[in-house]
Amino acid sequence: MDIEFRDVKDSYIRFVVSEANPQKINAIRRTLVSDVPKMSVNSVEFHLGPIMGEDGTEYESVTPLFDEIIAHRLGLVPLPTYLDEFNFRNECTCKGEGCPNCTVMYSLNKKGPCTVYSGDLEPLGSEKYRVKDEFIPIVKLGPKQAVLVYATAELGRGKQHAKFQAVQAPGYRYYPSVRFNYEKLDVEKFDTGCCPEGILEKRDSRIVVTDIEKCTLCKACVDAAPRGAVEVTGDETKFVMQFETDGSLTASQALIKSLEILEKGSSDLLEKLKAL
Ligand SMILES: [Zn+2]
Repeated sequence: MDIEFRDVKDSYIRFVVSEANPQKINAIRRTLVSDVPKMSVNSVEFHLGPIMGEDGTEYESVTPLFDEIIAHRLGLVPLPTYLDEFNFRNECTCKGEGCPNCTVMYSLNKKGPCTVYSGDLEPLGSEKYRVKDEFIPIVKLGPKQAVLVYATAELGRGKQHAKFQAVQAPGYRYYPSVRFNYEKLDVEKFDTGCCPEGILEKRDSRIVVTDIEKCTLCKACVDAAPRGAVEVTGDETKFVMQFETDGSLTASQALIKSLEILEKGSSDLLEKLKAL
């Protein structure tokens, strides 16, 4: 397989893979969704009873939402993930009790009236674990309402729970090819506006595709032309793939990790087969 990168941003990536097949590309897609690990809040401890303010005001540990809903919302907040620094909690030397090698603790301490945001999560430890998306609303507190919680984040995989899915909307399509048969096509009559992606142009009584990788193989141009005048095909050995991440990992980190997981899976299998 050969990869050419087209657009690489922190949380978005688009690339072209050649000398491949749909099975290989789909294996990458599935690994991205269900196997690439990320940190997420997995347990939340709520303080119960009155909370004293600094000025002596007494607040109730009450919010308009059930504790379960707040815990769920905290779980969905993307947390910065450093894959090299953490073990899975159940595989850690602490035997799952929770230690700095497998968990990150956060506290949340807010008094109403206010809106509690993801940015109010305070990491207990290094500032590098601070949430980057600061303005995800968690709950709105009324007067004399307060929330005090300790949240524990750990590594997990998308196949356990969607909150552990770092990659969103991974998709791929065959590399497109558009050919025009000028014996059947009247260039003057052909409406280039038929293409929803707007990549067709008339130049010197020919039709030109300005950016072939934007073609979605929708075949609107085939329908707009006489039968057999336009042919749109996809190359089954070459693919355009793209995906986004929720910010917990960069797109290139997620792609590298997915390839490492696939490589490890097949080398483990190979070793076992060799031992037979
Ligand atoms: Zn541990």
